Amino acid sequence: MDSLRAARYPFLRGASEFAEEHSQGIEMLLEGANYADARKRGLDRVMGALKNHTVPDYSLTNDYSRLMEVLSYPYARMLVSCIDDRLLTKRYALAEAEHMNSVLSKDRESLPIIIEELEINAQLNNDGTMNLHFADFLRFSYVMKAVEWKLINMNVKDGYVRLPAEKLVRLIQNAYRSRIESELPLKVPEEFRTFLQADINKINAVLAEAKNRMDPTNGEGMKDEFVPPCIKAIIEMAQAGQNLPHSARFALVSFLHALGLTYQQIIAIFAVSPDFNEAVSEYQIKHITGELNGTDGYTPPECATMKTNGICFNPDPLCEHIKHPLNYYRIKAGKPFGRRQEDE
Ligand code: SF4
Repeated sequence: MDSLRAARYPFLRGASEFAEEHSQGIEMLLEGANYADARKRGLDRVMGALKNHTVPDYSLTNDYSRLMEVLSYPYARMLVSCIDDRLLTKRYALAEAEHMNSVLSKDRESLPIIIEELEINAQLNNDGTMNLHFADFLRFSYVMKAVEWKLINMNVKDGYVRLPAEKLVRLIQNAYRSRIESELPLKVPEEFRTFLQADINKINAVLAEAKNRMDPTNGEGMKDEFVPPCIKAIIEMAQAGQNLPHSARFALVSFLHALGLTYQQIIAIFAVSPDFNEAVSEYQIKHITGELNGTDGYTPPECATMKTNGICFNPDPLCEHIKHPLNYYRIKAGKPFGRRQEDE
């Protein structure tokens, strides 16, 4: 593989072969003076993802720079793996995928290679459009909420969705993001961690700040005066013993969980209801908060979903300026919020 393509797409098998051929192995990457630039770029990949949601663009004009770029990728992945934090992994995967998208958008020649690497069932048409198998379309578009991404609005023939190349590249971004999330954490040998520790410490410090900024409650627990009107109404309904629709129960539990309330604190809200059934509530809460399947639980629904489900109760003037109940809470609590907080 040529060095420029390897540097642009360091996840390709050909890029790994390029790195093996032109470097002196993982130990030298971790400690060799000749590889300090690769380690710095690897740290920048992770820091860029955490701080700015981007992977920095380095000049790739010569072979040295390209090799450093390729090697920075496994170094970054080792750092993320050692820390093994869900927020960090998701931010890193998203930044890498968006970076790949911006590079691939200007480099259509590499499209077939990327498609093959990510095992996407797609073929190029003579007019520059692509045919993507509908199963892959559904797999990679399910996070796209805009109407233009609904299968019903697509040109489908013989099981394939015909797409302009730029739309396919956007779906490839999703495929690559999922690939990274599924691959990490890697098993990093204990003896490697000594060399990684200084950079791990730097990332951990920035990660802790990011988490603190995102915590709507500042670690102080839920304050009733900041709770959005929809959630207040659902709490009142639950405590009055009204039969909550599943969507309302889901919105309430996921919202409280996102604010950091414990299982005991959440079930205490339902326990006031006259027809409280502990076994049923326990199962539902533990399912929604991820305790049953070892995940971090579901993200609370955004306002648009709440409206569709008919549970956007009593919106007030602040509601006109927000798209997510958690951001209502953040604004009331005087906490800033940035892009994609609810995606995370
Ligand atoms: S607009 Fe959003 S925050 Fe406000 S009541 Fe409706 S769902 Fe809740």
